[in-house]
Amino acid sequence: MTESRDHQPRTTTRRSALRYGAALSAAAGAGAAGIAVPALAAPGTAPSTTQGAGRPLTADPFTLGVASGEPDATSVVLWTRLAPHPLAEDGFGGMPRRNVEVLWELATDERFRTLVRRGHVATGPAKGFAVHVEVAGLQTGWEYFYRFRVGQYVSPVARTRTAPALGTLGSALAMSFASCSQYEHGYFTAYRYLAADEPDLVLHLGDYLYEYKANTYVSPDGNVRDHVGPEMESLAEYRQRHAQYRADTDLQAAHAIAPWLVVWDDHEVDNNWAGDVYEKPEHPQPNFIQRRANAFQAYYENMPLRARNRPDGSAMRLYRAVSWGSLATFHMLDTRQYRDDQACGDGWKVCEDAKDPARTITGDDQEAWLLDNFRSSTARWDVLGQQVFFARRHSGSGANSMDSWDGYRGSQERISEGWVDADVRNPVVLTGDVHTHWANELKANYADPDSDVIGTELVTTSIASGGNGRDSDPSEDPDLERNPHIKFRNAQRGYVRTRIAPDAMDVDFRVLDKVTEPGDTASTRASFRIHDRRPGLDPLTR
Ligand code: FE
Ligand code: CA
Repeated sequence: MTESRDHQPRTTTRRSALRYGAALSAAAGAGAAGIAVPALAAPGTAPSTTQGAGRPLTADPFTLGVASGEPDATSVVLWTRLAPHPLAEDGFGGMPRRNVEVLWELATDERFRTLVRRGHVATGPAKGFAVHVEVAGLQTGWEYFYRFRVGQYVSPVARTRTAPALGTLGSALAMSFASCSQYEHGYFTAYRYLAADEPDLVLHLGDYLYEYKANTYVSPDGNVRDHVGPEMESLAEYRQRHAQYRADTDLQAAHAIAPWLVVWDDHEVDNNWAGDVYEKPEHPQPNFIQRRANAFQAYYENMPLRARNRPDGSAMRLYRAVSWGSLATFHMLDTRQYRDDQACGDGWKVCEDAKDPARTITGDDQEAWLLDNFRSSTARWDVLGQQVFFARRHSGSGANSMDSWDGYRGSQERISEGWVDADVRNPVVLTGDVHTHWANELKANYADPDSDVIGTELVTTSIASGGNGRDSDPSEDPDLERNPHIKFRNAQRGYVRTRIAPDAMDVDFRVLDKVTEPGDTASTRASFRIHDRRPGLDPLTR
């Protein structure tokens, strides 16, 4: 193992990031997410990198790209998964069924002239040929580059970083977040633009992939490509579908630019699942708990998560807090695994059940953990990274989604009151799921227009789910008229880009005109500023 602490100052690493970004854009559509890779540094000094006892691989196993995640001040997770033939039906990606040794390298420059760490890690069929490396002892607030090698094959190079030291604010954080990427509904152009912004951190809030068999979930614009395999149920099927998504080079570009923090929503397992309850009572799934275990195992294998998040059968501790110095704490929630079943038959008709304070969307343990986090927080911004619509929403007909926090009003009130009581400085809720951008002011009492604004919710539209969608005129939007706390809505595809600074969080709602053809251009549809100690949305003209 080579070790070097000969770090470059941040100003020069920034320049290499820009060069890297340019290479990324140049690679757009060319089928490569990384940059050209020079020979590995000093290969002769490393232990053998052959694949155990078997014969060397004869096809590139790095078709799924690379990723990183879960940064803290001194460590980060590096990820890849070996799959020379991603769509193989057995879920093993065309790998021979034996263990393989993988070399990984981390450097402070993308040409790997200044190598910081290198090591070997074994993977094999039991892990679906996934590779997770937790690299510790790194410099705080630093930019790094990493790659993997098996035999003669070298992975794309990607960028990652560590968080600022605890107790320090660091410089402004560029964080973008996304959700809902239905592969059949459109091209992942929004991921490509998210990467081109060169964020420091990316959050994915769920529906990273969808479970359906080809053409059973069809967008109004028609599907542009097909899912492989049946509706995912077996571990092999979940692994195969993850590989199909990961082979998308736009998605690979988004993973290659920055570390990610991920949480699932429903489609990683089964539409609208709730705890141990599957989608539709009329279609019984006697093996749902096994299905959930399969989904969790494949999710863990395919995401840059820490070993402590590894599933234990059908249980997986996904909720966690990640600190970005004292600038921001990301409370990443799991509102699926521990929730009571959706109220009122999981329809849109609201009944008394939705208001039953005994019902929970987080489960008791996660709620206690989150309320505790609020009480002990010293962060400038406390950000909840979670799945479903948080703010109260009134519709003309009285209908509402029972899959959202409105179907769990007890939880909605306890969490909101929790951050108010704890005097959390700047609570911001981030949301996915609804395939529409929304900007919401959170209220102490939604029925009273004069009630205090107690927080802010930013809801990202989908990357692709729902097809092209459409823009709408805010002055003619009945949802905005009926809900004065909702300041913006847009039903195009895209993502949300933020810049989190000590004195303000700036927010750009990014949109695309078309996802049914590759290569559309992204633009900013609306921008807002959230000021320190002043919850709510201040419109910005850009
Ligand atoms: Fe979705
Ligand atoms: Ca969803």
